Amino acid sequence: MPGFEIFGDEERREVQDVLDSGVLMRYGFDGARNGHWKALTLEKELAERLGSSNAHLCASGTAAVATALAACGVGAGDEVIVAPFTFVADIEMILMAGAVPVFADIDETLCLNPESVAAAITDKTKAVLVVHMCGSMARIDALATLCDERGVMLIEDAAQALGGHYGGKALGTFGKAGCFSFDYVKTITCGEGGAVITDDKDVYDIIQAYTDHGHDHVGSDRGAEGHPHIGTNYRISELNAAVGVAQLRKLDGMLEVQRANKAYIKDGLTGLNRVSFRELPDPDGDSATFLSFFMPTEEEARQATKDLAAAGVDGCFYWYDNNWHYHRRWEHLKQMNSPGALAPDRLGYGENWANRDLAKSDAIMGRTICMLIKLSWDETALAERLEKMKSVLG
Ligand SMILES: *Cc1c(COP(=O)(O)O)cnc(C)c1O
Repeated sequence: MPGFEIFGDEERREVQDVLDSGVLMRYGFDGARNGHWKALTLEKELAERLGSSNAHLCASGTAAVATALAACGVGAGDEVIVAPFTFVADIEMILMAGAVPVFADIDETLCLNPESVAAAITDKTKAVLVVHMCGSMARIDALATLCDERGVMLIEDAAQALGGHYGGKALGTFGKAGCFSFDYVKTITCGEGGAVITDDKDVYDIIQAYTDHGHDHVGSDRGAEGHPHIGTNYRISELNAAVGVAQLRKLDGMLEVQRANKAYIKDGLTGLNRVSFRELPDPDGDSATFLSFFMPTEEEARQATKDLAAAGVDGCFYWYDNNWHYHRRWEHLKQMNSPGALAPDRLGYGENWANRDLAKSDAIMGRTICMLIKLSWDETALAERLEKMKSVLG
């Protein structure tokens, strides 16, 4: 999946433009920047590529999630429904907003189960934050319908699913706002960076002000701009955005290679008795950054993970035991261990959020192995990998 596999002259040229002009900030310095607007260029091309009216870059995917929550009006005392299989950033940003994370179960899509989400909605629910994990999609149409019916905001964390789509519509465009990450290991990278997309002009106005201390970006005198609301500094730098400009232009080529590499391995494993595959609500829309499969039992999945590593099949993740991506190892979040007290902890309105029964999610994740799909595998590497996998999993 990682864009860092294919750095080349394109990235170097974009970065050099910025260094030559000396303008590292995305706003202002119109004369000095010699016509180079890397953040603006990437925003325009990203919005076009995804079919969204607006895209706004920020410093990271985590900042994108925080910004989307803020722009959707999530604040103190609100509940946000979220998956127990995601990256810690989602839970961190919900807590830091003063809101309470409410887990719902995942299903064999490895993403939120719409029925479990429906059961978790209360009169305090402000938003559902659905993550499209490991390159593929949630049952996003059902979730969008549910959120519509229940009057709840839908926010998509598509940090791992850039280029994925459902029914031809880009992941990230189904809810009020969609979040992306361009950190070092994502499908395209800026080094560090992220983006929020939205079709709602009012939400967009909040997003672009929130990421820049509340600047309304009206007029050409930054010091005289208005501040409609509080914000912070989640800006991306021109250097980071420059890398992203080159990377985004390579996205479709990358997706093509990933899909071919994944299909080769998946086809080769199809028919093995002990292996079944993650459910894909729209197989054509898979961004194919991972191949996710199930073993019959937790025991067999643990053993297979070890055997695959021993056989030299690298990049196979057993997320069930992972510190950063699955709820079982999130004691620090569940206990709200923070340098300073978090609002839900101090005010006592989030006491029980961490105690939800997630047996259904555990039963699925305990059996799940996800293998990273790389761009750099050639025919020989693919064939060798498949043979090794077949001998371990067969
Ligand atoms: C990477 C990631 C993030 C955070 O992105 P950063 O750019 O690393 O801050 C958020 N959610 C998911 C699902 C991710 O994989």
